[in-house]
Amino acid sequence: MKPLIAMEGVCKSYASAGWDLDVFDEAALSIQHGERCAIVGPSGAGKSTLLHLLGLLDTPDKGRLLFNGCDISTTTSDQRAQLRNQCLGFIFQNFHLLPRLTALENVALPLFYRGLSRAAAHQRAYEQLERVGLDERMLHRPASLSGGQCQRVAIARALVGAPALILADEPTGNLDSATTEDVLHLLLQLNREEGVTLVVVTHDTGLAQRLDRCFHVQNGKVTEKPHHWDMAHG
Ligand code: ADP
Ligand code: MG
Repeated sequence: MKPLIAMEGVCKSYASAGWDLDVFDEAALSIQHGERCAIVGPSGAGKSTLLHLLGLLDTPDKGRLLFNGCDISTTTSDQRAQLRNQCLGFIFQNFHLLPRLTALENVALPLFYRGLSRAAAHQRAYEQLERVGLDERMLHRPASLSGGQCQRVAIARALVGAPALILADEPTGNLDSATTEDVLHLLLQLNREEGVTLVVVTHDTGLAQRLDRCFHVQNGKVTEKPHHWDMAHG
């Protein structure tokens, strides 16, 4: 079967202070539909950069990125935005909620880009907030919600477009262990019941072990680790 997402020979550098910082040098990976993947690695190794590439928020300098078999280097930025809006749900590390909008309006926002009416968008947004247990807080702005509640709003927003792939950047990094368990439970349930592919950046060994595959980002490469691999001592 065609992979949902595949990277081949990908190079990515950032120009910083007059010189190039090479984050990826001929990196490769391939993820099938429905797989549950962890991305681990030291701080600054390129985990967020990798997630941005996989989420079509950034493009490789060199190499190929195939999304559902389509080489994204042949697409325009409008086509990539459309793919993002229709197929991807991105959960950012620090939520990225808009402070002036309520929880409901934050979750509904991606649907406006799809041309839904306000009433239809709000109805679907409400259903997602219900699903993450936050319907009673729908009129609250982010400043009056806890970290765990903001994370659940961010998850509801990632889910509202019924994505095939969810990319989450340390989704439990700021949460206590009970809330971490709730978030993980929700992501695994989506995978089980709706076949949503999961790619989760995490520092949490326990979380990584509950997914099927574990990719390690280091020294410009992405390598897959066996399941019993010890993140702390590997
Ligand atoms: P991680 O998520 O693994 O901590 P990142 O992908 O955020 O790592 O960053 C990888 C490297 O690229 C780091 O050295 C970081 O400072 C650098 N970097 C990330 N984004 C940018 C940017 N927009 N401009 C310049 N350098 C960046
Ligand atoms: Mg990061």
